[in-house]
Amino acid sequence: MITSKSLLKIRNNWISEVANQLATQEQVKEDLLEEISRFFDLLLQAVDLRDPYVLDPILSDWVNTRTETELENPEGSLMPVLSQIQLATFNIAERNLTKEETIETFTALLPIFSHGMEFASTEETRLHVQHITSELEKTRATLEKLEKSKSDFISVAAHELKTPLTLIEGYVSMLKDTLPQESSRKDLADIYLKGVHAGTRRLREIVDDMIDVSMIDNNLLSLNFQPLWINRLLDSIHRELSESIQQRNISLNINRFPGSDEMIFADGERLFQAFRNVIMNGIKYTPDGGKVNVDGRLLPGFIEITVSDTGIGIDPEDHGRIFEKFGRLGNVSLHSSGKTKFKGGGPGLGLPITKGIIDAHGGAIWVESIGYDEKSYPGSTFHIMLPLRKTPPDDKTAKLFKNLIEAN
Ligand code: ADP
Repeated sequence: MITSKSLLKIRNNWISEVANQLATQEQVKEDLLEEISRFFDLLLQAVDLRDPYVLDPILSDWVNTRTETELENPEGSLMPVLSQIQLATFNIAERNLTKEETIETFTALLPIFSHGMEFASTEETRLHVQHITSELEKTRATLEKLEKSKSDFISVAAHELKTPLTLIEGYVSMLKDTLPQESSRKDLADIYLKGVHAGTRRLREIVDDMIDVSMIDNNLLSLNFQPLWINRLLDSIHRELSESIQQRNISLNINRFPGSDEMIFADGERLFQAFRNVIMNGIKYTPDGGKVNVDGRLLPGFIEITVSDTGIGIDPEDHGRIFEKFGRLGNVSLHSSGKTKFKGGGPGLGLPITKGIIDAHGGAIWVESIGYDEKSYPGSTFHIMLPLRKTPPDDKTAKLFKNLIEAN
């Protein structure tokens, strides 16, 4: 017990010197004295019992009083404080004890201090990780709330807009029918009415998109599985977009590929909407004179359809964002209006709807593009994987088709 006796000899010196070194302000020093004395007495106990774990409770208390900013910052850690206490202890021992006593004290204290530092550092890391996890949890909860209010807003807005829109559409059509044929202003009135009609049609498309998005968000999208052929679907999209392609001087190439003429079960209307969105985007984000190419291949159990364009491209970091609601890129105020005009950005609902439709089919959609560049036009390729479904997924319809086939 020589060591603890030697330590006792330096107790008073140790407490005042360590408190002086650790605290620069008198008030802090006062508060510190009590803690420092507690530390010293536990140190003494640890030496007596040859048990470094005796210090754990006080170190744990000290770590727990650290603020989050102190924990994040290496200078705020307890490590420098413990090193300073250790150094001070050795200096005080050297000055006040005999050489033998000093060596003995050093030997006894070294493992206690190293265990203390290890313990404090582990505690600090544990607390830090705990704090980060709780912050992440808070952020996740906030994001979930935000996502929910976004979704609620879309749903309410869409339904609120629907009624007045239907009213306007009705009155426009009535006005058109009641305009006197012989009126000298008829031609002019017709032009104005066409303008109102085009505006309401675009508004109707946006409201319908908002309703689709809120259905997808709430898992309410139900599919109507029917037999269809991908090549026929793509041909009808080609026909629908022919005017825009001509206006924009874009060459839209739809290739026949193995699998495109296979009969599959899918929701034709929804797939039409999904493919049209992707092809229309190809046209929209490609400058006049560019190319949009539709191709594909047959894979085991799947058909893969690709839509490539020679347009502005998409930065890899945005490849996920564009499939999120309102995930429009670039400066929205610079977008032109119009559905197929160059960069004629819409509200950013097309791709989330497309993804919702493809996901509901059990498929997948993703994009490949080396980046966004409005000078070199690197282009983008959208990949769509669709399950090669030879029967409808739902049992009742499957049986009906089986019976029909057998009857024929
Ligand atoms: P929008 O109605 O704005 O076209 P989408 O959901 O269809 O909304 O697309 C989201 C965003 O993804 C677009 O605003 C555009 O920035 C980007 N994008 C989609 N398709 C392409 C493409 N083929 N080339 C470049 N950017 C694209």
